[in-house]
Amino acid sequence: PKLSTNSYLEDHEKDLSRDYAYQSKRENATLLMLVRNWEIEGALKSMRSLEDRFNRKYQYDWTFLNDVPFDDDFIEATSAMASGKTFYGLVPTSDWDKPSFIDEEEFESNLQLMHEKGIIYGGSKSYRNMCRFNSGFFFRQTLLDRYQYYFRVEPDVQYYCDFPYDPFEIMRKQRKKYGFVISMYEYEDTIPTLWDAVEEFIADQPDMIDFDTNSYDFITDDSMIGLEMPIIQSNSNYNLCHFWSNFEIGDLSFFRSKEYLNFFEHLDQRKGFYLERWGDAPVHSIAVALLLRQDEIIHFDELGYYHIPFGTCPAAHSIRLRQRCMCDPNAESNIDVKAHSCLARWWKSGGGKYFMKHTSI
Ligand code: GDP
Ligand code: MN
Repeated sequence: PKLSTNSYLEDHEKDLSRDYAYQSKRENATLLMLVRNWEIEGALKSMRSLEDRFNRKYQYDWTFLNDVPFDDDFIEATSAMASGKTFYGLVPTSDWDKPSFIDEEEFESNLQLMHEKGIIYGGSKSYRNMCRFNSGFFFRQTLLDRYQYYFRVEPDVQYYCDFPYDPFEIMRKQRKKYGFVISMYEYEDTIPTLWDAVEEFIADQPDMIDFDTNSYDFITDDSMIGLEMPIIQSNSNYNLCHFWSNFEIGDLSFFRSKEYLNFFEHLDQRKGFYLERWGDAPVHSIAVALLLRQDEIIHFDELGYYHIPFGTCPAAHSIRLRQRCMCDPNAESNIDVKAHSCLARWWKSGGGKYFMKHTSI
């Protein structure tokens, strides 16, 4: 007699024999990695993991971006690792370097101060270029012009489980514009005046924001009274919750919209990408929370993922077997059940209310 667990294996074998059918179902999308040449090993690890868990069936294109030209070794190895086509883009310096409206002396002294305070990446110039690029310029790169969706991948990440669906297809069919797996609190020291800038934007552009349908409640605490969870001290009305953007699946048309461009332009003028150290994660998250309807944001609950130092692992034993997960939901690194996860707030604020089950497509 067969062991009952054999059925999982048979399902998987069936999937393999259907390889070609999946490729014809591809969406207009690319996997996207901003990466440095010296990160080649971590890039290959991430690619191997995502290819195994998802992409070898679909063979989506990979798009690589860099502020300096990719070297031959990088191109050769990543092309060999990819199941789909690969494209390599050089970011123009105008989309990368510190803009001239940042005062050099003020910049240097702030950098020094943040470094001395021990703020993570507080003294790094290139990190600031990267965060501003990911906030306002990645979607303007010509290599991305022909795609509607992107899936951000970073070096040295892991996908713990087989994908039970094509997340791009879910995005299109359910009209989602932004997808995430992990949400947590930002270090307030990196964004002291970000929320002030956001409040100005809200006051300047009231027509762009619909508080009846957006996720304002998720990123502010007014509506969370009575919710039992540790209070993270915030000096502003922003509760510091953000989607962890190293994993991110998005609709490029949102970032290309005049609403988002306006939002970015407003923040950029406030200089916080350089005089503070605003990350692209809180910037994307606040934009998404203000400008999108809440039902346009999706939490991909069943996609296991790890980026140092946190991961997310499906809680259900049956899902972990069905999707061949290699993770332990009780591990110290699993943020879902930890106090510094914002997921409970996401649910409490109504996130996932419109979630539809889609175990088989
Ligand atoms: P962390 O995840 O916040 O610790 O930051 P990372 O070092 O992982 O950087 C985030 C992403 O930007 C990763 O995909 C990096 O490869 C990429 N990145 C960071 N700095 C640079 C840079 O100066 N040049 C390029 N080309 N990529 C960068
Ligand atoms: Mn990273």
